[in-house]
Amino acid sequence: MTKKTIYSQLTWPETKEAIAEERVVLLPTGSIEGHGPHCPLDTDTVIAEGVCKRVAELIPDQVLVLPPLSIGLANNHMDFPGTLTFTEITYINMVSEICLGLGHHGFKRILIINGHGGNQPALDVAARIVNNRNPGVLCGVMTYYSTPKAMKIDAEYAKAQGLTGSQDHGGFGETSCYLAFNPDPVDMSKAQKAEIPYSSAFGFGAEDAPVILMPYWSTVTPLGMMGDPRKANAEDGNTYLNVVVEEITQIVRDFKKMNLSSRNDQHDPPAPAWGTHFFAKGDK
Ligand SMILES: [Zn+2]
Repeated sequence: MTKKTIYSQLTWPETKEAIAEERVVLLPTGSIEGHGPHCPLDTDTVIAEGVCKRVAELIPDQVLVLPPLSIGLANNHMDFPGTLTFTEITYINMVSEICLGLGHHGFKRILIINGHGGNQPALDVAARIVNNRNPGVLCGVMTYYSTPKAMKIDAEYAKAQGLTGSQDHGGFGETSCYLAFNPDPVDMSKAQKAEIPYSSAFGFGAEDAPVILMPYWSTVTPLGMMGDPRKANAEDGNTYLNVVVEEITQIVRDFKKMNLSSRNDQHDPPAPAWGTHFFAKGDK
C-alpha cells in the first residue's frame, strides 16, 4: 500500500509511525477573499493545497499534508462581499497552536506553504513562536510563488501582458493555476484587466518593493484584483505549477535532512527554552 499523505486520514498508530519516520508536515494556508469578478473566493487556498498535494505525490514517504487553513488574514479585502478573515492576533495564535500541537506529538519539521501574500507577516511571527517555544521543532514558512524559478516565470507572464510589475491577484498566474486544478468555478467571461498604480518603490502587498503598503484593497482596485487574466489557461497554469512543485519538493527534501544542534545556553544552571515560561508546567 502506498503511503498515506493526507494527515487527517491517518489513524493514531499510523501517525506515530509517521512521527518516527520524521516526515515533514506541510500546512497549506490560504484565504477566502475577493479575487475579481471571475475567480472564486478560495483561489489562494485551492492553489496552496493543490501545490502541497502535488509535492506529496512526488515524495509520499517524506511528507504529510494537513487540511488547509482556508481562512487567513484578509482584513483589507473586507470591502468585497464574501471575504472572511481573522484578526491578526487570532490568526497568529491559531497557526502557532496548530504547529505547537504537532511538536507536542513529536513532529520535528513543519513547513507552512502559504498561498496568500497578506498572511505572510503573521505566518513569520507564528513560525518564530513555534521555534522559540519548542526548540525541538523546526518550523519554516514560505509562499509558494516565492521560489526563484517561479518568480522568473511570473515576471515573464507579466511582461507578456504589458504589465509594469509582476502584479497578480486573480491575474494571469493565479487564474491559470485555478483553471489547472479545477476550471468549473472560474467564469472566464467575466475576466477583466486591472492594473493598479505601481511604482518600483511602493508595492501593494508586493514583497519586491522597498515600501509595502496594505491599504483597503478597494482603494487601489475597484474590481478587487490586479493583473490581466483574460488569456489565462490551464496549460500555462500547469507549466508554472510543475516548476513550483519541483522547487518546493527539493526544498522539502533539504528540510527533511536539516538538523540543528541543540541550544548552547550559557546560563549556569541552564535556563529552559525562553518561550516555555509562558506555558503551564507540564505543557510544551
Ligand atoms: Zn490570490
